[in-house]
Amino acid sequence: MWSDQPVTTILALDVGGTKMAAGLVDAAGSVLVHDRVETPPGGDAEALWAAVVGVVDSVLASPHALPYDAVGIGCGGPMQWPAGLVSPINIHGWRDFPLLHRMAERYAGTRPVAIHNDAVALAVAEHRWGAGRGYDHVLGMVVSTGVGGGLVLGGRRVDGGTGNAGHIGHLVVDPDGPPCPCGSRGCVEAIARGPAIAAYAVELGWTGAQTGMAVAEGARSGDPYCQAAFERAGRAVGAAIVSATALLDLDVVTIGGGIAQSGDLFLDPVHAAFDELAGLAFIRRCRIVPARLGPLAGLSGAAALVL
Ligand SMILES: [Zn+2]
Repeated sequence: MWSDQPVTTILALDVGGTKMAAGLVDAAGSVLVHDRVETPPGGDAEALWAAVVGVVDSVLASPHALPYDAVGIGCGGPMQWPAGLVSPINIHGWRDFPLLHRMAERYAGTRPVAIHNDAVALAVAEHRWGAGRGYDHVLGMVVSTGVGGGLVLGGRRVDGGTGNAGHIGHLVVDPDGPPCPCGSRGCVEAIARGPAIAAYAVELGWTGAQTGMAVAEGARSGDPYCQAAFERAGRAVGAAIVSATALLDLDVVTIGGGIAQSGDLFLDPVHAAFDELAGLAFIRRCRIVPARLGPLAGLSGAAALVL
């Protein structure tokens, strides 16, 4: 896109609320070398940046490091895009932090550099190398502590007017539903994100640990409150997928993230709601599948942004 030379190795950075990962990724999406650190909790802007520099420098100092010819960055949203001023909801020390500029200045030189929402990066990677491969119209979803997504339509990444297209987590599936951190209510994220699943299970009577993972274990061992919370979350996601597919005529929706890793516990109600609510033939055609790329998908996704 930027030069005639094919990109062969990418320096990739994946910044999330709990961890920061850096790696060198080849043009097939394979992570050649990587490292990760905890995102400094409560860190100010420069402490957070120092953590980024630490993890990137550690990768570049690895005996397995190769020269790289582009830099790709995925970061939790929202951000001003394409300027790359990031304000991740879960990283309070960064508000309009110039992450793209800092990375370009320190690591890119004359090499191409690109940044996007981490969910968009994941969607692009699933389309290119994962469960969305071979399809032209793909929604890549992440269901974990938040609910995110990215879109590929007609084989191309969709950015939207401000780089925020694909925010399926804030599709409203119940206008009378619970408040969402975004300021709206009844969003998919307000119902299906891990903390919301746990909060609902507690509201019903669950007395175990208030985390998505504990509630998943509770549901598997037969606790009716935990099962009801997963059922409700899965149905919300299924309903949102029906709406998104009606709007976009999708071929496939890939779902990854910690909650999705609960497997059938989560995916069964997703499919049930989809089957129940999808009326038109073109909507029913859409397939819903687990994401295929593993725990390093965020780095592959960051790399995919510059390919
Ligand atoms: Zn919302």
